[in-house]
Parts: sequence; structure tokens; C-alpha cells
Amino acid sequence: MRPHGLPESASHPVVTPLSPSVVYASETPDALDDQYEGRVHGYTYSREGHPNADVIARRLDDMEGASGGVVTGSGMAAVSAVLMGLLQTGEHVIGGDQLYGRSLRLMKEDLPRLGIATTLADPGDVEAIRAAIRPETKLILVEAVSNPTLAVADIDGIAALCREHGLLLVVDNTFTTPRGFKPFDHGADIVIHSVTKLLAGHSDVMLGYVVAKDAALNDRMRVFSVTTGMTPSPFDCWLAERGLLSFDLRFDRAEATAARLADHIAGLPGVKRVLYPTRHDHPDHGRAETLLKGRGCNMVSFELDGGRDAANAFTRAAEGLSFAPTLGDVGTTLSHPASSSHRALSPENRAELGLHEGFFRVSVGLEDPDTLCRIFEDAITAATS
Ligand SMILES: *Cc1c(COP(=O)(O)O)cnc(C)c1O
Repeated sequence: MRPHGLPESASHPVVTPLSPSVVYASETPDALDDQYEGRVHGYTYSREGHPNADVIARRLDDMEGASGGVVTGSGMAAVSAVLMGLLQTGEHVIGGDQLYGRSLRLMKEDLPRLGIATTLADPGDVEAIRAAIRPETKLILVEAVSNPTLAVADIDGIAALCREHGLLLVVDNTFTTPRGFKPFDHGADIVIHSVTKLLAGHSDVMLGYVVAKDAALNDRMRVFSVTTGMTPSPFDCWLAERGLLSFDLRFDRAEATAARLADHIAGLPGVKRVLYPTRHDHPDHGRAETLLKGRGCNMVSFELDGGRDAANAFTRAAEGLSFAPTLGDVGTTLSHPASSSHRALSPENRAELGLHEGFFRVSVGLEDPDTLCRIFEDAITAATS
């Protein structure tokens, strides 16, 4: 026999309790019938759902202005829940050509293996997307702002195309977050997040989230995610909830610092170019204005003179900044696409995307802005002079 029940208390905890229980006991078979038939709400087995997952899912629903979203064990599980939970053999999907690396891999390797055809096209070019549409096309997956060149998709144009052709528009909103961009206001049908990044925000949680406008699609994705075991652990959901409580403050701070850092390093010798959506020299600046309505993001990309040697010298000199392949942490992190996310590409392909050896992507954290600008200035000077 297992002990159960908490001591009685007339007051209640202010923090959501962590519920790691895998199973939930019912009183009678009749009570279980009521639960399975939806007359009462209750839990049975945590892969099917648990309180901590529901708490975080409803919070994320509120942020995206949606309902019935599904939390998953990672952002990639959320991407998979959409692509593998909703598509079938013989259908076709179009993806942005600069999607997150594993999303690209899913499009290029796994979907074709299952008989689902895929085409990648530039999401900044509606005509290129239009040209990729076939009779069997079902959905288009894009990121509003994509990694690592911070290219801005023509979401409004693609949404019009989707309406015209009856396609689902799926937006991965990880970089922009609900604070920077609201995909449902721009015609998206489904929104995906890697909660791992800015939303949870502390590099200690792996979690994903997906929500559709249409409740029937949410149900299909929920069933697929439960069947394939994508359910996140209660502890990760609990930690993510704690992270979310400070998300707005963290995002605003990191965004303001990122805009400042972008302007600061753009003026330094040894810096070839700086990419930041609200800067006038960003190639997609006009689209960034309409889509993000003056908001930016916490990401800045830049290119140093001097190739790999300068890149090595820069990460060595960048005191206190982690050279680590993630984003959205409380601390600023550096990523070098040529040696990490884009290393599988040939040097020629990388050059086409502008990802030379001196190219870095910065995820700006919560450090003091003056200190951060000084660290970058010192490291850039040390690396390029
Ligand atoms: C990180 C990331 C993912 C994948 O999320 P995980 O939580 O790492 O599985 C998907 N899309 C984007 C844009 C990401 O940055």
C-alpha cells in the first residue's frame, strides 16, 4: 500500500505544486467512465496528460491568444507533431529555406522517407513560394525571423497565398516570441514554439508547444503526441512556468540591449556588417517594420574581418560569454554557424547564405548593457587588430 494525500491546510500554496505522479487512482470503474467520457475532468496516466503540462499549456495559449495548445518534450517534438501528426503519404509541404537545422532535416530526410514530398523556398519571396505549390500541397512552414541571418518572412503575403489555395500556414514563432509577433493576427493557422529558448529562458528546460486555431487540429496533434510519447515531464513544465513568470521583463530587457549592441558594434573597425531587424541597413527592414511593429528581438548577427583566425580569437577574448549553440538564455551566448549549425553545408553553400568564417550570431542576455558593449568592443578589437 502506498501512502497518499497531503496534510490538510486551510490555506493554499502560492506556487503551482509539482505533480510527478505517473498514475492517478480513481474511486470506481464508474468514476473512470465519467472521466473517459468527459463528464468530469481527471488524469489517468501522465503520458496522456498531467496538471503541470496543463498549467503551462494554458499560460502559453493566453500568450498566443489561442486555446487548446499542446506542450511537448521539445520544440522539435512540436514541429514533428505538426508535420507527422497532420500530414499523410502522398501529400506535399513547403518549408522556408532557412528553417531551424533539425526542422530542415525533417523536411529533407524524414518526410520524404514517409512518402511526404517537400520543397524549400525563400519565405521572403512570395512568388518563389507560389511557384512551389502543387495540387497535393497541404501546408507551409516558416519562421517569422530566421536563423542566423535574421531574415524576415513575408508572412502577410504567404498568408494570402494560403487562403487562396486552402493551405495551412504554420509559423515557428521561437525567435520572435508572442511579445514580438502574433502570428494568428497575420493569418497563421498553427503556431509552434521551442519553449526551451526565450520563453523558459534559463537553459535548464527542454519543452515545446504547438497550437492551432482549429480545435480539431489540436485534438489530432494531441493524440499523435500522446501516442508517440512526446509528453513533457512535470518537472520541465514546472520549471518552464517559473521561467515564464519573468518572460516579458526578460524579453524587453534583452531586446533593448540587443538593439544597442547592434548599433554599438556596427561602428567598430573590424566589423564587416551587422544584422538586426530594426536597423535601417537590414535587408528586410521594411518587412520587419510591418510585421514586428517596431519591435526587434534579442538576436544580433555580425561578421568580423579576418575569417576563422579572427573568429577563434574573438571567442577566446569574449570574456564571460558562452560560446554555446543555443539562444534565449539569461546569459549572452555566441554561436558560429560555420562550425556548428551550418557545418554540414559546403563552403560555397555557406557563402551563398553569407555565412562566412567571421560570421557570428549573438543571443543577447540580461547583462548590464554598458558592460556587454565593452566586452564586445574589447573582444572585437583584440580579434581584428
Ligand atoms: C531550438 C529551435 C527549435 C527546436 O527546439 P528544441 O526545443 O531544441 O527541440 C525549433 N525551431 C527554432 C526556431 C529553434 O530555435
